[in-house]
Amino acid sequence: MPIHEKSLIRPENLREHDKLQIDGVDVSGPWSTFIESRVVNDYNEHLEEEVAAFPGGSFIHRCWQCGACTNSCTVNAINPDFNPRYWIYLVRLGMEQELLRDKDIIWQCVSCHKCTHVCPRDVEPEGVMKALSHWLEHKGHTPKSSSQHFDEAFFEQVLETGKIEEGRLIRKFFKRTSQPLKQDWMVSMVKGLINGLPFTLLTKLGLSTLLRPKTSGWKRSKDSIQELIQMREQERKEVLQKNNTESHG
Ligand code: SF4
Ligand code: SF4
Repeated sequence: MPIHEKSLIRPENLREHDKLQIDGVDVSGPWSTFIESRVVNDYNEHLEEEVAAFPGGSFIHRCWQCGACTNSCTVNAINPDFNPRYWIYLVRLGMEQELLRDKDIIWQCVSCHKCTHVCPRDVEPEGVMKALSHWLEHKGHTPKSSSQHFDEAFFEQVLETGKIEEGRLIRKFFKRTSQPLKQDWMVSMVKGLINGLPFTLLTKLGLSTLLRPKTSGWKRSKDSIQELIQMREQERKEVLQKNNTESHG
């Protein structure tokens, strides 16, 4: 009988006998495949709570493991190891070490939202993937990803001015990710803009790059957003701190 979702079993846990006969029947090779039993004793009982404290993760508790997210997933179609259903399962069980084995591919979610669209329980798996990536970075399991650098640069600009000015945003992003400003695709895009856009629009774009305009009356909105962020950060800190205290207590 084939092993269901065999890709989830770590190769080192699969055992086969090259030569094995049982009651005169040759069961060598795949006919004698079995899965080695294992003991898990390093649960993080608060893992679900920790992931839920990051933006996008708050509905993880609703998952009933139907697998629709993984079946519809764009990345899973290319790489079967990318498995949102399985990672949600590990988080809910508190199997942190098992989850960390896939830490280098979790960030590969392309945010297509197909999983979120099909999920019958409104778990918003795309959000859970984001929360998981942030959790991994926050706990120091992975370095800060380029997309996180971009999110931060984007958010800082919106918070500061209430507007998005792409030129400044891209410069900031390149600087933070140590990329040269002059890149082939960038040069051809700028050339295309210069050739294709009307002069007045180009002038406006140039001026907004230089003058850094702000949305009028933005200060009140900025203060409210900042207050909300501080509140959320404090909540998250408390969850993570509580769990750290318990594990070291
Ligand atoms: S589709 Fe939703 S309920 Fe089903 S496994 Fe994925 S997250 Fe869980
Ligand atoms: S949003 Fe991410 S997890 Fe969801 S289907 Fe797209 S790639 Fe897969």
